[in-house]
Amino acid sequence: MAKRALRAGIDLGGTKIQAIVVDERHAVLGQARLPTPTAGGPDAVVRDLAASVRAACADAGAGLADLRGVGLGSPGSIDEAQGTVGGARNLPQWPGKPVPVARELAEALAVDAPVRVANDVDVATNAEFVLGAAADYASLLGVFWGTGVGGGLVLDGKPWNGRESAGEIGHMVVVRDGRRCPCGRRGCMEAYAGRAAMEARARHLHDDKRRKTVLFDIMRERGRDRLTSGIWFRAADRGDGLAVELLEEAVGAIAAATASAVNLLDPEAVVIGGGLGIRFGEPWVQKIREAMQPNLFRDDDPPAIELAALGDLGGALGAALLVA
Ligand SMILES: [Zn+2]
Repeated sequence: MAKRALRAGIDLGGTKIQAIVVDERHAVLGQARLPTPTAGGPDAVVRDLAASVRAACADAGAGLADLRGVGLGSPGSIDEAQGTVGGARNLPQWPGKPVPVARELAEALAVDAPVRVANDVDVATNAEFVLGAAADYASLLGVFWGTGVGGGLVLDGKPWNGRESAGEIGHMVVVRDGRRCPCGRRGCMEAYAGRAAMEARARHLHDDKRRKTVLFDIMRERGRDRLTSGIWFRAADRGDGLAVELLEEAVGAIAAATASAVNLLDPEAVVIGGGLGIRFGEPWVQKIREAMQPNLFRDDDPPAIELAALGDLGGALGAALLVA
C-alpha cells in the first residue's frame, strides 16, 4: 500500500495527553487520550506520548510509517529549534534542565519523520487562527480558561511572543495586592479564574468556613481527586451556590483582564477556549462578553468574542500544524 501523507499532533497537558492523526486537509482520522503520568519524570511522559501516537494511528487504521511528521504542544519553557522542554511545573518530576523531548520521542517512535515541539498555548492559539473561530481575522487574542489561564497572541497575521513570554493573560493584575496566584504573585486574573486556584478557594471555603457545596460530593461520586471542569459544570447545573459564586468571580476576572488587553491591543477577535471554557461553552462566553462591556474603551464596537471552534482537539490540531 502506498504511504499516506498523515500527521500526528499531540497536546500534552497536566492531566491528559490527547493525540490525533490528521490528513492533508486537517481532518481527524484517529485519536487517543491517555492520562498524563503522575510519576516517572520525562521517561514516563515520552513513553506515554509515543503510546498515544501509536494508539491514534491504530484508531486511524494507519501505521507509524504513514506519518510525515509529529507535532507536540507542551507546557513549560520550549526551545523550538532544539526541541527541548524545560521548567514544566505541570509535568511530573521534570528536571531543571531542558529535556530533548523531540529527539527522545522520535527515538521512541522510530519514525523517519520530523518531530517538532512548541508551547501548548501558542499551538492552540494558532489552530484557532488558522482553522478555527478566528480563521477570518488578522489578529487574535486567545484566552484558554483551564487549570491555569493561558493566553496567545496573533498580531497582523503573525504570532507575537514578545521576548519569549508574551500572552500571559492569566497574570494580568485584576486586584492590586489581591489573592495569591499559583505563580506566587498577588492579584493575578488566574488567582480568581484558574481551575486550580478555584479548587483551592472552594476547599478553603468548604473546610475552614463550613460553606455548603456539592462540589466535593460530585468529586467523590465520580472517583476523582480534583475538581475537574466536568465537576464544576455539574455543580453549577445543580445551582450549587458556592460553585456559581466562584465561577462568576472567575468570569469577572477573565472579563477584566481580557477587556484591558483588548483596550491595549485592539485585536479583531478574542477566542475563549481551555477546559473550562469549552465545557461551559457559549452561554458562559456570553457572560464574559457582557462582563467585558463596561470595561471596553471602544464599547460601541467590541471585537468578535468567540468560543473556540475546535473544542478540546484544538491543541492537538495546532500541534499537527507544526509539521504541516
Ligand atoms: Zn500569577
